[in-house]
Amino acid sequence: MSSKVKDLQSETQHAKPSQGGVLYVVSSPSGGGKGTLIRRVLDVMPDLSYSVSYTTRAPRNGEVHGREYFFVDRPEFETMVAAGEFLEWANVHGNLYGTAESQVVSETTAGVDLVLEVDVQGADSVRKLALDSVSIFILPPSLETLRQRLLSRGTDTPEQLAVRLRNAPAELSQYEKFDYIIFNDEVERASAQLAAIVTAERARRSRQEALVRDVINKFKEV
Ligand code: 5GP
Repeated sequence: MSSKVKDLQSETQHAKPSQGGVLYVVSSPSGGGKGTLIRRVLDVMPDLSYSVSYTTRAPRNGEVHGREYFFVDRPEFETMVAAGEFLEWANVHGNLYGTAESQVVSETTAGVDLVLEVDVQGADSVRKLALDSVSIFILPPSLETLRQRLLSRGTDTPEQLAVRLRNAPAELSQYEKFDYIIFNDEVERASAQLAAIVTAERARRSRQEALVRDVINKFKEV
């Protein structure tokens, strides 16, 4: 764990206001490094959980059903769509991906904040739902960095790699819709910035009304 993020951990232990959870919607082009940043922040932030999506994409080496994704076939996914089980879903690079509404509802109702790692279409859909959400775009420094990250992951065929790189400029052009941009040129700094966004959003007045009223009422008791 990095020292910068570790420092943030102690500062954030008591920072979660006790009302409904917030959705942190994190997007970037494929290979933008959002997965790494999210994992680092989940390690250190209290009351922050990860929404495990459903996908029709085949599992990569090392991916575990129920951890990275719930891997399902197309008919199963389409049955879930028809049953209205997704908060949002999209076709991304030729595969279907979706966020199950049940996890989002159960965690946010319990006051847990949730990270949604979705593509720009998914971010659009969540924005339209008018839930308590914050959107964050992870900006990779260059196309070459994307190519290198995808190549070193070694999981895509040359055709899949080409599709992901070809789709990147259109995904990048969506940046204006997001509340925050994190330039991911350096993992330590970028993950500290992601943790800082969560910490700052938790301090918003609108999310602390209940706490403030409690404190003010105690003042009145004396
Ligand atoms: P990958 O195949 O590399 O795991 O993911 C491809 C893209 O799909 C990434 O941009 C990822 O954020 C996005 N994605 C993953 N889960 C979801 C989801 O539930 N909904 C949407 N809309 N996109 C998702």
